[in-house]
Amino acid sequence: MEQDTIVAIATPPGEGGLGVVRMSGPEAIAFASRLFRPVRPGPLCSYRLRYGHVVDPTSGLVIDEALLAVMRAPQSFTREDVVEFSCHGGPLPVQQTLQGCLDAGARLARPGEFTLRAFLNGRIDLSQAEATLDVIRAQTDAGLALAQAQLGGWLAREVRAVRAVLLELLAYVTVLVDFPEDEVEPQDIGPRLRTSLQTVTSLLEGANQGLVYRHGARVAIVGQPNVGKSSLLNVLLRSDRAIVTPIPGTTRDTLEETANLNGIPVVLIDTAGIHASNDLVERLGIERSRAALAQADVALLVIDASRPVEDEDLLIARLTADKPTLLVWNKLDQRDPAAPSLASLAEYLDHPRLAATVATSVATGEGLETLVQGLVQVLLGGHAPLAAGEARLVSNPRHHDALRRAHEYLAAALAGWDANDPTDLLGGDLLAALNALGEITGESVGDDLLDLIFSQFCIGK
Ligand code: GDP
Repeated sequence: MEQDTIVAIATPPGEGGLGVVRMSGPEAIAFASRLFRPVRPGPLCSYRLRYGHVVDPTSGLVIDEALLAVMRAPQSFTREDVVEFSCHGGPLPVQQTLQGCLDAGARLARPGEFTLRAFLNGRIDLSQAEATLDVIRAQTDAGLALAQAQLGGWLAREVRAVRAVLLELLAYVTVLVDFPEDEVEPQDIGPRLRTSLQTVTSLLEGANQGLVYRHGARVAIVGQPNVGKSSLLNVLLRSDRAIVTPIPGTTRDTLEETANLNGIPVVLIDTAGIHASNDLVERLGIERSRAALAQADVALLVIDASRPVEDEDLLIARLTADKPTLLVWNKLDQRDPAAPSLASLAEYLDHPRLAATVATSVATGEGLETLVQGLVQVLLGGHAPLAAGEARLVSNPRHHDALRRAHEYLAAALAGWDANDPTDLLGGDLLAALNALGEITGESVGDDLLDLIFSQFCIGK
């Protein structure tokens, strides 16, 4: 249990309806009492809001009118005594309230320190602590649902259950190695290992989708000028209401906007909105396409279906050869019915990583839904989209990596067991699998990793 009492502003900087200052630690209530004057006298009871004033204890001057919430240990976010001042949401009242707490003896909290304490004091495991950050940062409803489920602790419970089994098996194996002459209860090692491996396998399978929903992907829209790139970009941006903050392009040759495609946050890297210079190569968009593609996971290659394929189309198509590519034949409404079929043209393109082909018309709306579905499928790499209400998917790359290693060790342990390998080898693999799984829940992580994880949080969380 930490002994310091920590304090921080828990709301974002700037003006708002409320500004919250949060304090946690053994002396939180005592410190708060020094600067909070309740309008009605009486003790500060847990889970009671008190109305009153924050005052400067030396001058007696009122800093703000505020509500004070008191949550006594262990029924609080950190499992320590916690108080929260809800002030008016202006920079000065909030900062002066913070200063009052510091003057009373509290120390400024480090980023994520409240959540770190919740973890260290055993209220949540590491996967739940990380989920709080995912909840804050969620970009789509699907991302939020995944984060909330993880915060609810399903992953922690699954991982703990597997670890409990492995721990028993390890204990048994260790006794066999250390005291071969002792009689010990035989364990169903093979079947129990197999079940554990199955659980880890299914967690890993879910991660294939979960990681895409949480992190999204970067898609470059490339094609000749005038083929309809901007028009398609606008359609994709409109395909869902919840659009997240636009990010400026990472190079001057591209623009980026984020769309919510069926719950996947997709950064669309666009070359269309940039006006062409006189330079011939620039005009063809080759350099810009290259710049956009360099930053992308997937290419959306747009070709004008109302005219024959041109050399420049092929040139740009060749640039996309090393990315999974969705080919879009646009301007379908203006297509000459006598022209060669789009399928034969796609064949003619001979793209090594062509994942799907769609024909669209931004003018009539034809094919646009298919385009969104096709893009979602390419992004998910063939894995099924998230069904409504299904949110139990691993979505954190750190967890994914730990599961991958746990899987490797468990598979080795099972193979060893089936092949009657020496028992101490089995023990080594079991221990390694246990540790890998413990990295998810936090049982086997060092301070360095904890620092790294919690430093990504904001101050006051
Ligand atoms: P970009 O230069 O590739 O970004 O192309 P734009 O999106 O600016 O489109 C160029 C022109 O083609 C505009 O006048 C659009 O209205 C038009 N356009 C785009 N898509 C279609 C389509 O599917 N059918 C028709 N008829 N016109 C389209």
